[in-house]
Formats: sequence, structure tokens, C-alpha cells
Amino acid sequence: MKGKTLLENIASISSTEFYTPVPKGYKAGMTKYLVITGSVMSGIGKGMLTSSLCKLFANRGMNVEPMKLEAYLNVDAGTLNPFRHGEVFVLDDGTETDMDLGSYERFLDKNLGRENFITSGLIYKTIVEKERKGAYLGRDVQFIPHVTGEIKRFVRELAVKKKPDIVVIEIGGTVGDYENMFALEAMRELMYEESSHNVCFLNATYIIEPPSLGEHKSKAAQLGIRRLLSLGIQPNIIVCRSHTPIPKAIKEKISLNSNVPVERVIGVEDIDKIYELPLALRKKELDEKILEVLRVEKKFRPNNKELIEWTKKNRVSKKAPSVKIALAGKYTNVKDAYISILKALEHCEGVLNTRIETCWIDTAKLEREPRKIASLKNYDGIIVPGGFGKRGIEGKIAVADYCRKKNIPYLGLCLGFQVAVIAFARSVCKLKGANSTEIEPKCKHAVIDLLPEQRQISGLGATMRLGGHDVELMPGTIAHRIHGKQSFIRRRFRHRYELNPEYIEILSKHGMVFSGKAPDKRVMQILELPQHKFYMACQYHPEFTSRPLKPDPLFLHFIKAARRKHVR
Ligand code: GLN
Repeated sequence: MKGKTLLENIASISSTEFYTPVPKGYKAGMTKYLVITGSVMSGIGKGMLTSSLCKLFANRGMNVEPMKLEAYLNVDAGTLNPFRHGEVFVLDDGTETDMDLGSYERFLDKNLGRENFITSGLIYKTIVEKERKGAYLGRDVQFIPHVTGEIKRFVRELAVKKKPDIVVIEIGGTVGDYENMFALEAMRELMYEESSHNVCFLNATYIIEPPSLGEHKSKAAQLGIRRLLSLGIQPNIIVCRSHTPIPKAIKEKISLNSNVPVERVIGVEDIDKIYELPLALRKKELDEKILEVLRVEKKFRPNNKELIEWTKKNRVSKKAPSVKIALAGKYTNVKDAYISILKALEHCEGVLNTRIETCWIDTAKLEREPRKIASLKNYDGIIVPGGFGKRGIEGKIAVADYCRKKNIPYLGLCLGFQVAVIAFARSVCKLKGANSTEIEPKCKHAVIDLLPEQRQISGLGATMRLGGHDVELMPGTIAHRIHGKQSFIRRRFRHRYELNPEYIEILSKHGMVFSGKAPDKRVMQILELPQHKFYMACQYHPEFTSRPLKPDPLFLHFIKAARRKHVR
């Protein structure tokens, strides 16, 4: 065994306690790892920190692969309620993920895939399936080494498949969550097998500042970090999140308690706009310090010019004109449920130098008090976002109807497309009883109906029409023009219902233009009303592929129309 690395030894001994399935072609040290954990509490911006660091590494010319490790037992995020967990983000390959993946994609400006997202449910499912096939014959399957081994295998497979210079692994939740134990243990083992200059541990903690005291307190952070140490993980870097800048004394306390040199304890206070974060972190040399631990700081040099440019272009000047946009949805009290839409609007802000104020309209309330619909006049544009189920749907149909009648810019996304069709069918085509079979299975005019391939499906996990598909744009339409006259665009879908092709003719006859469709099929995917100030809707989710400095054209032109005030 002499001359071999620890990992090679482990891989070559099949009957030892070192169970680590190493993927073919993997070599220890071929990839650097940054493992990001949280302590004290969730919601301190760990995802934003991870995304910003990805941006900084990419800015240095590194090939970066982010990975999110979620502790929950769902196999993916598809069945999660956005009200509890935030938006379900859809990748191009159809994987339904946590919203952090959306943030990684936006900051890296690249598409991610199934291999960038692991849940405990996926790990256990893989292990149980392997066990049934006899893969562990003769052995009892254990949390250590089998569960931890499987987690490491997923991580290393990403390294083999994408050949990144660095894999940035964000562990969901906080240190001390019972369900996170195996993920953390797997990361400890990863460090043991890869050696200390290949794995860097960063703990993002929170320094509280109780208003009654008016000063920063570090005890909660100390205890959180101690917890990490007790699991055998020595952090290399501590990021102290706080509301206001922390004093030197706090950094010193944290340093003393965590064996982390004080220059590697970095304070990161709240900022207004998230795209300012990468530059702020660069100024604190956070990326430099991480790469020092990994011994590649000299190999990959920063490109500050590009970073400053990027940050500036995303900014909106203080004197910029502003528009008021309302989102008419169901989960109005949880902004995270619509995070990609808010981001897509933000992408327009920089490009158009326009401030966008977003407001929320609860469509369930509109149903109870229909008179309140007149309040829509107070907005420069209305978005009806995606959604499922009955609650609030009549309110959404009423919103789509009102915007059409009153010439208020309207952007419908997925369900927003479907309600625009229902409203138009009912009041313009006079199809009384028009509805979606999702809402009213036996309605008189099923203008929105189940996709044919959905009829045989019974389970609810990963069974919708999901992921990236081509959309064909019809020449001569607004959609064609605003997408630079491209014949095809690729967008992401997540739905079960569609416009019933039997109604295309009557809707078209009354003036609804279908400007985007599935190639080679009579499946309509973009609608527009050309006489209207702006009335467009799509069956896909343009918000998932909108990126900083590259807003989706539908959002961009919707905001442009909203800016043209006093027209109605
Ligand atoms: N509930 C609708 C469908 O399944 C819309 C889905 C959505 O808005 N994502 O088709």
C-alpha cells in the first residue's frame, strides 16, 4: 500500500470499515472543496453568501460547481409548499430544487443540473435501492460508513463529471440540526480523505444585537461554532453576519473560541442590494483567504475591473423613474415564494435604470370583496404568477379581465396564462362557464385542460411537464420582435394543464394572438393582445432563466410598457 494516497487505499480495500465508493476517474486533490455551514440560525443569507462566493471564484477564471445538500427526506423539492419553504426552482433538466439553486444560477450565469442538488431523501432512496439489488451483500447497511459514503460519492461524481476547479457545497439548515448530522459527518470524512489543503470549511454565523442592550453579543455564535468543533470540524474561516458592523473585540472573542485566526474572522453586515455583496466580499478579501487555505490564490487571480463593471451595471440611480408593479397571487405573505419573479424584476431595474416598487394583491381577498378590483388602477402593471389549486383563482381571473378592459399592462406567468385565457373566453368569446378542469373538472367549456400525457399519471412527485423545452415564435408577432426575431427560444416549464386546442380557433377569431407554441404541436405557449398597451402571458416560467444584466424580454418589455404612464 506504500506510495498510494489514503483515498486509493480506501478504494482498493473492499472489506474494510473505510467504505467509500469512489467514482471512476476520481483522484483526491483533483478538485478543491469549500464547505459552507451555518450556525445560530437559518435565514442569515447563507445562500447569498454561497452565490456571491461562486461569482467571485468565477470572476477569477475558476470553473465553479455549486452544490446544495438539503437535510429533508423529500427526494426533491417538487412537493414542497412554497408557503413554507419558498419557491420551487426548476432546472433545465427538469429537477425541482430549493430556491438557492436559482440564486447560484443567476450569480454564475450558467445552468445547473440534477448533480448540483442532493437531499437526504435522494441519498436514502439510492441506498435502499442498492441494498435491494444486493450491492452491500453480507453487510449491514449503516449510517456510517454507507450514508456518509453515498454523500461523498455524489460530491465526487460532480467533480468527475464537470471537472470543476472548485466545488462549493452549501449545507442547508444550521449546525446542530439533528437531521444534518450525516451531511456534516460526510464533510468531515471528506476532509480526512482529501487532506486539509483541499477542503476549506467556512462557517456563517450570526452576531446578535439585542435592541435592549444596543451592543453586539457573540455568545450564541460561540456556542454554534463550538457545536461544529464538537463534530470534529475545525472551521478555517468564520463569517459573522450582523445587522451593523461588528467591533474588533467581537472578532477576537470568536477567534479565541474557535481556533480561527482573527484575520480569518470576517464581519459581513446587512446590505440593501444583493448584487453589491460580491464586491463587498472581494474588498474584505474573503475569496482570497479561502483560496489561501486551498493554496490556489496565486493560480487564480481576481478580475476587479469585470466585477466593478458588473456591480455598477446592476445599480439603479437614486433619481431613476419608478414604477409600481403588483403581484396578484396567493402566497402574498411569503416573498420567498416568488423570489425568481422578484429577481427577474430586479434584472430589469439595472438595465432600464428604473426603480420597481412591488406590491402584493391577495386574490383570495379580492374574491370576498370584488369592489376592491378598482384598486388595480393604482399600479403601472400587474403580474399574475404561477400557482396551483382553487383558492384565489376567481380573483386572478377577475384581475386578468380587469387589466384587459382597462388597458393596464399585464404579464401572466403559467397560471397567469391560463387565467388570461379563461377571462377572455368568458367575456370576449362569450363562452359562459369557461374554466380550467383543474378548478372545475366538469365545466361547460374546458378551455384549459390536462396535458394528454398527464392523464395516466397518479403520483405527484416529479410528474408534471418539467424543465427546459423549445418554444417556437411566430413571425410578425410582438413575442417574435421582442425576442430579437429568433425562431426558437428555450424556456422552463412546470405544469399539468394547457390551453385546450379545440378552443384555439374561437379565441384567435376574437383577437387573441398565439405567438409562441411547442414546435410541431398545436400546444400554445405565448399569448398576446396586440392592440393593448401590453398584454402578454406565457405557459412557461421566464423568471427561472432571467439573469442579472440579461433580463427576460417579456419582463423587460412589460416594465417598459409600465413606464409609459398616462396612456390609459
Ligand atoms: N396549475 C397549473 C398547471 O398545473 C399552473 C401551474 C403553474 O402555474 N406552475 O398547469
